[in-house]
Amino acid sequence: MLLRKLIFEYHAKKNNSNIFNKCLVALTTLPLRQHSSYRLEEAYKKIKAKCESKKLPKDVNPSAVFACNELDLKEVKVYGFDYDYTLACYKPSLDYLLYNLGRETLIEKYKYPKKIANLEYKPGFAVRGLHYDIEKGVLIKLDSFLQIQFGSVYRGLKPLSNENVLKLYKNRIIPIAYVEGDRHSSGSHSKMVQLADLFSVPEMCLICNVTDYFERNHIDYHPEILFRDVKNSVKNSHPVMHKIVAQNVAEYIEAHDLKPFFDRLKNANKKLFLVTNSPYKFVNKGMEHLVGANWKEYFDVLIVQARKPKFFTDDSRPIRVFDEHSGMHIWDRVTKLEKGVIYYEGTVKQLQDLTGWRGHQVLYFGDHPYSDLADVTLEHGWRTGAIINELTHEIATLNNPKFKKDANWLQMLTQLIEDHQDCEDEEEQAVLAKWMQERDKLRNNIKCVFNEQFGSVFRTYHNPTYFSRRLFRFADIYTSSINNLMNYSVNHTFYPRRGVMPHEYTSYFV
Ligand SMILES: [Mg+2]
Repeated sequence: MLLRKLIFEYHAKKNNSNIFNKCLVALTTLPLRQHSSYRLEEAYKKIKAKCESKKLPKDVNPSAVFACNELDLKEVKVYGFDYDYTLACYKPSLDYLLYNLGRETLIEKYKYPKKIANLEYKPGFAVRGLHYDIEKGVLIKLDSFLQIQFGSVYRGLKPLSNENVLKLYKNRIIPIAYVEGDRHSSGSHSKMVQLADLFSVPEMCLICNVTDYFERNHIDYHPEILFRDVKNSVKNSHPVMHKIVAQNVAEYIEAHDLKPFFDRLKNANKKLFLVTNSPYKFVNKGMEHLVGANWKEYFDVLIVQARKPKFFTDDSRPIRVFDEHSGMHIWDRVTKLEKGVIYYEGTVKQLQDLTGWRGHQVLYFGDHPYSDLADVTLEHGWRTGAIINELTHEIATLNNPKFKKDANWLQMLTQLIEDHQDCEDEEEQAVLAKWMQERDKLRNNIKCVFNEQFGSVFRTYHNPTYFSRRLFRFADIYTSSINNLMNYSVNHTFYPRRGVMPHEYTSYFV
């Protein structure tokens, strides 16, 4: 436009050298501008072609054991286990059972509206590791920097828009005292609770379903009261759940044969112990299903109703004997731990004092990063293994060729944006905006294939989740099932991958 105007002026004013010079300037800048947006388009095409020509990465082995920290099994003399979701893996039928029992208690005991009986369990709605804000009544996914993952904030069954999230929290990053409580003041409680075990997944669905019911029917409610009532309802349903599961173990527990694994450990002269919060009768039925009637012979120490995490944190709470034949609790003082005897309560201090099992010679497996793994790692120097059932679904998703392509392209597109972002030209900015849009869409696709609402248990876009950062800190190794240990000898050393730090080479090979 500018050039056309100048040429017109030049003809009109007959050979005006000033206008002629302006024409020259316009002529030299015009091709440059065209060239720069053209340059961006060309860079995009080149990177896209490069991405498409690349071989996709090999599949991740879903039965592998992954190392966060080096662990030499030769040093491990004692293997300890949690029971629920560590040795016993539950089928989805257990989620339905817990949800239904909790909903029933809400109506019967807490007098919630009878109509909530129609609210059905929604499998796959929530993932573990989310935070529930007891003040604002939202379920929220946080990353390891305490940043909110936009698009993963739900009130009831409805996602909150980014604008509403910012209105609620004023910021994308939530202060640590709000999430974890003020660590400098014992009286200050956090406004958020994290739902870190698998039993809490049906609990989250019940909270969201009831919230949604209240919101739809314009019923005033207090999010904290709702949270406490649901939590207590599900917790109080556990004894009934234990009875129902014990009556029909095969319907609720996956049939993993644990015998070969325990045989291997025993043949290698390893000591075995069990520390579970569940009651004996319930554990006994499950272990008979998983190992056989003689399952107790594998264990040197059996502790039920341990009340973890108190078992690992309390200094003095006497260990007691449970008589399985009479179903009675015995009052005698315990001075030694005997094979075949069922113990309950107690503390890790007594377990260590009476057995002499200490530090890195003990490897304890659990599914809960805090109540199973945090204290034994931080306070007692035990080695730890996390059993994370969700890995099966997460790895199957990672191994999908479409996911691999999308994830690779996301990386390369992000790099392309980073390399070309400092342009001021309008046309170039338009191209960049288009790339950003494509990147947002891609990021969302990659998130939704794990879980429509909350994405992966381990990632919030490119950052680790709050949950996975904690998990990697407290677990030396992690895997989807305890039986995966059968893929390794009892002398195996697990080596962590040498991760790339931001200031290092992106790859050690060209
Ligand atoms: Mg457990």
